Amino acid sequence: MSDKTIFERIFAGEIPARMVHEDEVCGAFHDINPQAPTHVLVVPRKPIPGISALSASDALIVGHLFVVARRIAAELGLDGGFRLVINDGEDGQQTVPHLHVHLLGGRKMTWPPG
Ligand code: AMP
Repeated sequence: MSDKTIFERIFAGEIPARMVHEDEVCGAFHDINPQAPTHVLVVPRKPIPGISALSASDALIVGHLFVVARRIAAELGLDGGFRLVINDGEDGQQTVPHLHVHLLGGRKMTWPPG
């Protein structure tokens, strides 16, 4: 039994994913269950469980995720805008305990979110 998160297994090449970006700090790949025409997850290589588990030393990593998300949004032509979402914990409906930013675009989003 592996105690790696599903996203660590993607980084390790054990599970296939449609990668759109990789660098030394993070990777990004298409969500397997897209909620918008574009739905990409931007994920740090460090398996931080979630926003609730952040420490001050993670600040550069988190900033990097947003810069990469912005870059991917431009590369994928999300010129009309997009939405970044981070779910946290049970009430936030987080299902994978490895920090990730959802990049959603390609349709008009609704507000408030569900
Ligand atoms: P969250 O509910 O915020 O924790 O988001 C987890 C996301 O990971 C969901 O949108 C899932 O569809 C997505 N997901 C789970 N497994 C995979 C996978 N193997 N490849 C790509 N996306 C995945």
